[in-house]
Amino acid sequence: MAERPYIVGNWKMNGSRTTLSEARAIDRGAQRTMKVEVALAPPYTLIHAVSREAGQIGVGAQDCHPGEEGAHTGDIAASMIADSGAKFVILGHSERRQDHAEQAELINAKIASALEAGLRIILCCGETLETRDAGQAEQFVLDQLRASLPKIDDAGERLSVAYEPIWAIGTGRTATTKDIAAMHKAIRGLIDETYGPDQSPDVRILYGGSVKPENAGEILATEEVGGALVGGASLTAESFLGIVVAA
Ligand code: PEP
Repeated sequence: MAERPYIVGNWKMNGSRTTLSEARAIDRGAQRTMKVEVALAPPYTLIHAVSREAGQIGVGAQDCHPGEEGAHTGDIAASMIADSGAKFVILGHSERRQDHAEQAELINAKIASALEAGLRIILCCGETLETRDAGQAEQFVLDQLRASLPKIDDAGERLSVAYEPIWAIGTGRTATTKDIAAMHKAIRGLIDETYGPDQSPDVRILYGGSVKPENAGEILATEEVGGALVGGASLTAESFLGIVVAA
């Protein structure tokens, strides 16, 4: 099992609150807690500046276009993200799946393009409340992953999976540790099957959904939780570092 927990901040489109100076403060804080791998996915506009200054944190993007280059106004290719200093990209986030109707075919093309550009991937999955209430959460999440886990032989190096129940994202509600443990165990089973015993233990399974300093310790101590993908609580250095310390 990968030893250091992986704590990743997803700043989304919170431009007024997320600044270079906040990223600097996170980087300084991360230098004091080497036991944790800390990373940040700022908006595209900050990737270059943050990655140029970051001494400790990994810097990534929140999405990429599947193509290498071309007439795609407003889009950013994975190779351009890598060129600006990013080392990873978050793909398949539920907000992309919902807001942009992203489905497996497009997500898989983005994954292929990101891998080709040398980026690590955080692949997100997660069910709606209706799916959970219908007792189909596990099957839904495993189907989502089966459709998108890349066929690579260095998954331990290149891939993390983030389980993010949609109903827990930005809502203040978190899944119970029992439910998190059950889902992460099921995901681990699929990762074992897909990548085998050499690679699987190094593929971290992150939990995401209203993680904050007060609940991070308990969530991160849950079986098969290898880290957290954090939205709202990553927007200030104080709360994000509170999670890092709790890890
Ligand atoms: C996310 O969107 O990845 C996320 C987990 O958000 P929040 O922490 O705000 O629930």
